[in-house]
Amino acid sequence: MVIKQLPAIFEPARPVLQRIENAGYQAYFVGGCVRDTILGDHIHDIDIATSAYPSEIKSLFKRTVDTGIQHGTVMVLDHGTGYEITTFRTESGYQDFRRPDKVTFVRSLADDLKRRDFTINALALRENGEVIDLFNGLTDLKKHVIRAVGKADQRFHEDALRMMRAVRFASKLDFDIDAMTLHGIADNAQLLSKIAVERIQVEMEKLLLGQNPPAGLVAMVQTELYRYCPGLSNAKTALTQLTLMRNWQLSNATQAWGTLAVALGLNSHSSRTFLKQWKLSNQLIESVQTCLPAVSAIKARSVSAEILYRCGRDGVINANQIAAVFGWDLPVQELLDHYQQLPIKNSKELAITGGDLIKKGLMTPGPDLGKTLKWVEKAVVNQQVENRPEKIIMAIRQRKEEL
Ligand code: ATP
Ligand code: MG
Repeated sequence: MVIKQLPAIFEPARPVLQRIENAGYQAYFVGGCVRDTILGDHIHDIDIATSAYPSEIKSLFKRTVDTGIQHGTVMVLDHGTGYEITTFRTESGYQDFRRPDKVTFVRSLADDLKRRDFTINALALRENGEVIDLFNGLTDLKKHVIRAVGKADQRFHEDALRMMRAVRFASKLDFDIDAMTLHGIADNAQLLSKIAVERIQVEMEKLLLGQNPPAGLVAMVQTELYRYCPGLSNAKTALTQLTLMRNWQLSNATQAWGTLAVALGLNSHSSRTFLKQWKLSNQLIESVQTCLPAVSAIKARSVSAEILYRCGRDGVINANQIAAVFGWDLPVQELLDHYQQLPIKNSKELAITGGDLIKKGLMTPGPDLGKTLKWVEKAVVNQQVENRPEKIIMAIRQRKEEL
């Protein structure tokens, strides 16, 4: 197969590959960018592989950076763009089911492609558009199949993360996993426990944000891979329920993990422990926690001003997208209009500050001041008190009398 017109993202890299070829080495685009080119999908980055050793690449280009020299990667800087170029290599060892004990640089493209995970990821593309397909990746791309390169059982045994990659590609591309490959996952699923949670997390998030998350989740349930994921060992019923949901339009990590938390029946509080197990950042965990009360409110059709206020605009959108997966969503514009009508969007918009109250002799510094401000904030959001200094002061005086 020859691709006549490469997508624009390849254009500026072509002279780099030409220079390597002109020096007598081979150079190819490899991996996801070739797959996505043939599928006509968006290409987010390009990987280049070569028969030249890192030192040889470095002698060919003026400006290079040793970004990952121990595994053969050198970055070439060309007209302000950096291209990661990796020497063909084979891997051996894998005594720990995750990292090869030994990486060997080789001159053969075939050897390099052979170590790659799936046939659709083992294609190479020359700068002139010629596609090298040694493992029938093109047929699998056409048939929408994810198939391990070589013996699935052995490949998953070498690197257990590949099992998570298989289910994430099933979702991301909406492809089927070939029967032998699926068997290989079922037979090796427990090896996933050897893999760092952070790496499983990356694949899980991509799965949830893919074209067809149920496809990935079904495979996880079928093969029992889910049992070796953080916090999911007893989640068969919840995950199976989730596979039946059809309205997935998730677009960010908060929505992805929020959906999983809701599927497991977690609330804002209990989701924290679960998301911590997945080693997500505190910022992401807080963002999920913030929108979960709104998901419940949307489900219950009782979205209060206070819920919207606490959630913020992005939180409202996230919550409604999560709710949509379960068929609970409301018209988003209705929610946003409601949000827009809030008297204030955050505490900084309050017409008075703690300092004002102290100056007016109404309050003294201390815990009571904080409590009063919280009370004012809530009263203003709920439109019980108008957001004007004199109205707020009046309300505070009245409250003091009542207390
Ligand atoms: P994405 O679009 O998500 O980046 P990708 O296929 O480019 O998908 P990467 O993780 O960027 O995935 O990896 C680049 C390439 O490296 C893959 O296409 C595959 O050929 C190879 N690869 C990555 N991880 C593995 C692995 N664990 N085992 C074998 N080959 C792998
Ligand atoms: Mg990639």
